[in-house]
Amino acid sequence: MNQLIDPFNRKITYLRVSVTDHCNYRCHYCRDEEHQTHTTRPEVLSFEEITKIVSLFAKLGVTKVRLTGGEPLLRKNILDLTKMLGNINGLTDIPLSTNAHLLASFAAKLKDHGINRANISIDSLIPKRFNKITRNGDLTKVLKGIDTAIAVGMSPIKLNMVVMKGINDDEIESMIDFAIDRAVDIRFIETMPVGLAGIGAVDRHYSEKEILERVYKKIGEKLVSTTTKQTDGPAKPMLIDGTNTSVATISAVSNHFCNSCNRVRLTAKGDLILCLGQENSISLRDAVRSSMSDEEINNLIINAINKKPEKHFFSSAIDNISDQQMVEIGG
Ligand code: SAM
Repeated sequence: MNQLIDPFNRKITYLRVSVTDHCNYRCHYCRDEEHQTHTTRPEVLSFEEITKIVSLFAKLGVTKVRLTGGEPLLRKNILDLTKMLGNINGLTDIPLSTNAHLLASFAAKLKDHGINRANISIDSLIPKRFNKITRNGDLTKVLKGIDTAIAVGMSPIKLNMVVMKGINDDEIESMIDFAIDRAVDIRFIETMPVGLAGIGAVDRHYSEKEILERVYKKIGEKLVSTTTKQTDGPAKPMLIDGTNTSVATISAVSNHFCNSCNRVRLTAKGDLILCLGQENSISLRDAVRSSMSDEEINNLIINAINKKPEKHFFSSAIDNISDQQMVEIGG
């Protein structure tokens, strides 16, 4: 039985686990130019600690655990962790969020370990532009990662494009064509004012309304609404008729979907973050490194969930925004 029900009657079934705050890309909406990661190995949760925390969450009712980062595939021996997580009773879904730079060499093994699906960040299909947005990313490698994931049968694959005014908004249409061509899903994401880099991206914000106008103009007559699946999260996908591709927007700024929020986040350093838009966390690393019993840690988690804020303040109170950058929180 799920024991993680917050004061607003939301059942917490989804834990996002950042396995590293290091990333090989430096997307300018995710981390500011100066940002460096100095986190050392002893500061981050070990695989045993992550597995212990995830197992406790699974016993309390969490069924979905997403591996994120930083770039999760950069974490040394990540396949040892995916194997360990695959053995936890109660988990039904362990997706991955990745920039796909290294995915080509990992995809087959990940699939073997039950990581059946992936969300892949890709903000441009123009190599020079991609390189600029990611501050040195390699589009060729990412495309190879996507194609390998498709070839080994990872499914569904969802492409995540953060749409930014004057930077890549002219690629909404070509990204739809690309997704149809590869029979994968596409999700257009509004920039969120999280951390310094996110706040910096506010003036490039491209709203859900603007995104949808473009989507409807291109394929409006072909859009068929589908029933939302558990894997859809806050997105409300629409199928493009005659294809295997769905389109959705993730619009945390235009739309508060906080009333259906079912998630909490664990950072690489073991902080449990209760709401993306607010700075409130407790250290589960201290708990698992202390002499606390499992029951005491369970109670700590349950008490934390009791303090989950009702909603984020993305649109109103910049002052409330976390000092942490997305690259540290995991998106
Ligand atoms: N490296 C992995 C990746 O590229 O997907 C996982 C980590 S990344 C922080 C997770 C997601 O957060 C990506 O889809 C990224 O585009 C998104 N993201 C980061 N900063 C954001 C922001 N300010 N607004 C909206 N999405 C953001």
